[in-house]
Amino acid sequence: MNQLLPLIDRLVRAHSLSEEEYETLITERNEQAASLLRQEAVRLRKAVYGNAVFTRGLIELSNYCRNDCLYCGIRRSNAHADRYRLTPEEILACCREGYELGFRTFVLQGGEDAWFNDERLCGLLRQIKEQYPDCAITLSLGERSRESYQRLFDAGADRYLLRHETADKAHYEKLHPPELSFDNRMECLRNLREIGYQVGCGFMVGSPFQTPAALAKDLKFIETFRPEMCGIGPFIPQKDTPFGQHAGGSVELTCYLLSILRIIQPNLLLPATTALGTLDPQGREKGILSGANVVMPNLSPVSVRKKYQLYDNKICTGEESAQCRGCLAQRMDAIGYELVIDRGDPKSN
Ligand code: SAH
Repeated sequence: MNQLLPLIDRLVRAHSLSEEEYETLITERNEQAASLLRQEAVRLRKAVYGNAVFTRGLIELSNYCRNDCLYCGIRRSNAHADRYRLTPEEILACCREGYELGFRTFVLQGGEDAWFNDERLCGLLRQIKEQYPDCAITLSLGERSRESYQRLFDAGADRYLLRHETADKAHYEKLHPPELSFDNRMECLRNLREIGYQVGCGFMVGSPFQTPAALAKDLKFIETFRPEMCGIGPFIPQKDTPFGQHAGGSVELTCYLLSILRIIQPNLLLPATTALGTLDPQGREKGILSGANVVMPNLSPVSVRKKYQLYDNKICTGEESAQCRGCLAQRMDAIGYELVIDRGDPKSN
C-alpha cells in the first residue's frame, strides 16, 4: 500500500495540503506517486490550456549586478565574469527579430544594473509597446522600490518575475549576503501584486542547504500567494561562486514539484526552464510532460549569450534565435504539444 495515494487524492480534489503533508509527499516520494502526480497534472493542464505551450523570448539585458547572491555566476564578486550591457538599440533589434519569429512576450532579464534606471527603462518600455502593441512585456530585474515598479508598470510592463528563491527565512539567509533580506524580497512581491502586475515567483530545486521542509514551505507559499507564474529549475553550480563545489539539483525532483504545482494551481504559467534542459538533453520535454506549459528560448545576441552565465554549461549559447525557436517547436511537436503564437496570458481555472 502506497501511503502517498490518499494524500495525492486529496491534493487533486482540494488543491491544498498542509505543510507537513507536502513534506511527506517529498520525503516519501516513489515512482508510483510521481507517475500519478504527472498524470493528474497533465490532465488538469490540458483542461485549462489544451496542448498549447506558450513561448517567451528571453532577452538578457546586462550581467552587471550590484548583488552578491552566493549561488549566482553574475554576482558582483565574480571577477571572472566578462561584463556586458546591451544598448537600447540592441534590445529593440532583439524584439524585432523575436516578433518576426512569432514571439508575443518579451522577457527583459538582467542583473541589478544601475545603468538601467527608471528613466532609461521607461523609455525602452514605451518604444517596445509602441512598436509591438500586441506583445506583453515581462521584467525580471530584481528588487526595486515600489515607486520604481509603479513607473515601469505605467510605462507598459505587464508582468514581473521575481523568484522568492526560498520561502524559509533561515535558508534565504544562507543563500544571500546580509544586505539582502527575505522580508524585502517578499515585500517586493506584494508590491508588484498590488500595483497590478501579473507576478511570477519561484525557487531553485536542490539549492545548498535546502531541506524537504523548506520545499514544503515553498509549496505552501505558492498555494497561498497564488502567483500568475512560477519559475522553478534545478540549482546548477557555477565554478566561480562560493557554491561552485556544491551538488546540483535533480531533474527528477524538479519534475515531481512541477506536477505538484500544476495540481495546486491548474492555471499556473509554469516554465520548463533552460536549467532543466541544461541538466538533461530531454529536460524541457520532461518538464512539459510533468505539467509545465511555458518555454523561454533565448533571444539575446549570440555575442553575449555565453557571458550571461548564472550557472555552468548553460545550453543554447551558440545558436541563433531562429534556431532556438525552431528547435523548441520541433521538440514540443515530437511530444504532442504545440508552440503557439500568443501572449499567453493566464486563463481562469
Ligand atoms: N537579477 C534578477 C534576475 C536573476 S536571474 C533577480 O534577482 O530576480 C534569474 C534566476 O536565476 C534567479 O532568480 C535564480 O533563481 C536563478 N539562478 C541564479 N543562479 C543559479 C544557479 N547557479 N543555478 C540555477 N539557477 C540559478
